Amino acid sequence: MKLAEYEIGSQLVQCGCCDYYSLVERGKCLICPVCYWEDDYDCTNENGLVLDIKSDLNNDFTLVEARENFKRYGAWLEKFSGIVLSEEERKNLKYEQRNV
Ligand SMILES: [Zn+2]
Repeated sequence: MKLAEYEIGSQLVQCGCCDYYSLVERGKCLICPVCYWEDDYDCTNENGLVLDIKSDLNNDFTLVEARENFKRYGAWLEKFSGIVLSEEERKNLKYEQRNV
């Protein structure tokens, strides 16, 4: 996945899994380029808070589980760790850690 596909500097919104501002919009089943989580709006409430609900778009993982995997592997599943943005590419994206 190439960072150029994303409009850096535009109004990106925060991913529910990795906490990077990496999505063009929410609720459209977009795949996050940082963690590869498919944005499942059912897994967050209107404030973007993480809820412990299984995501059928993401192999029935919850965001809690996916967030733990992201910290460990750099992607929500280890098998995606080779295709997500590199640490260097991520530096261009806004990041705000949420403690959930
Ligand atoms: Zn993400």
